[in-house]
Amino acid sequence: MRAFTYQPPASRIVFGAGTIAGVRDEVERLGGRRVLLLAAASGAGGAARLGAVLGDLVVARFDGAAAHTPVEVTDRALALLREHASDCVVALGGGTTTGLAKALAVRTGVPQVVLPTTYAGSEVTPVLGETRDGRKTTRSSPDILPETVVYDVELTLGLPQAVSLTSGMNALAHAVEALYAPQANPALDALALEAITRLGRALPRVVLVPADRDARADVLVAAWLAGTCLAAAGMGLHHQLCHVLGGSFGLPHAATHAVVLPHALTYNAPAVPDVLARVAAALGAPDAPGAVFDLVARLGGPTALRDLGLAGADLPRVIDLALAAPYPNPRELTADGVTALLDAAHAGRRPAPAPA
Ligand code: NAD
Repeated sequence: MRAFTYQPPASRIVFGAGTIAGVRDEVERLGGRRVLLLAAASGAGGAARLGAVLGDLVVARFDGAAAHTPVEVTDRALALLREHASDCVVALGGGTTTGLAKALAVRTGVPQVVLPTTYAGSEVTPVLGETRDGRKTTRSSPDILPETVVYDVELTLGLPQAVSLTSGMNALAHAVEALYAPQANPALDALALEAITRLGRALPRVVLVPADRDARADVLVAAWLAGTCLAAAGMGLHHQLCHVLGGSFGLPHAATHAVVLPHALTYNAPAVPDVLARVAAALGAPDAPGAVFDLVARLGGPTALRDLGLAGADLPRVIDLALAAPYPNPRELTADGVTALLDAAHAGRRPAPAPA
């Protein structure tokens, strides 16, 4: 028997196609009268529609959200929020735009309505990563959790194939690491396995046929479920390595997850063979690390850290940082083990199947 304590995050979730039309009602439900609209330039089509839906509720707009939530960008958006006395933030975009909304909410207490356009899952977590002077730190607070999340599958149809794939792997990583987290419980297991199953069956379709609404909806549901896992379960070695590689070496967030995940699974396999077997079964494959690697490779995604710009000479520093503040992980972290993992991830070697 596993004992557990579980407090599910309490965002209001609106899911569907065309749900953007209800965003004004959602803002008013939260008492919002003066909206600061955050929208990435790449989501311009969605931003224009959102502006039209919100109408005179919008008092200011900011489209300068930047990767890893630099505090100087937050300060600029905060000045705008204060100048216009905004009482609600509405964010349209991926994890980068959501991060800015959270950074504003935690500083001011204003409620957030978030419309995610990637599969990062940040919109349902009370966690915020911020960068100051090139160092990324993470904090957690109930004030960071968005009050309302509006998932509109239409907003994801234009997500480029490469980002769809890597962002989907980001979601897969949340679900997989939740299965061996110290906070694992039967409810989270069910969410995680459902997310993995949906990603395994629908992510290839999304990459090959980006306008397939049903496949997009499947993956968007998976992203929500995986984000819910991330919100409640402490992540392990995989997320630790990606945090170091993104925060200290500037590697792209989702692509780094896509490269590292098979190797982190290989590392943890001896400690949690049952979890690896469940992941493999959910993916319909004999071997989880190989299946994850093949999924990315087959769809033309990145498989090597060196192709993401990480120099071989940086590997010792990555290892030092990863071992300096280790996350809880099912298998003890050793310098030799993490070195072997990173060597394989750097070169892009396919993980060997675990011995039977
Ligand atoms: P992102 O938000 O930076 O988006 C990736 C790229 O896709 C960007 O160029 C963006 O402009 C573009 N894009 C997004 N949606 C689009 C669309 N529908 N059409 C066309 N282009 C689109 O990347 P991300 O992977 O979603 O988020 C990464 C950030 O989120 C990182 O800073 C990461 O740390 C953070 N994150 C936080 C959590 C958390 O719980 N705190 C969870 C996951 C990710």
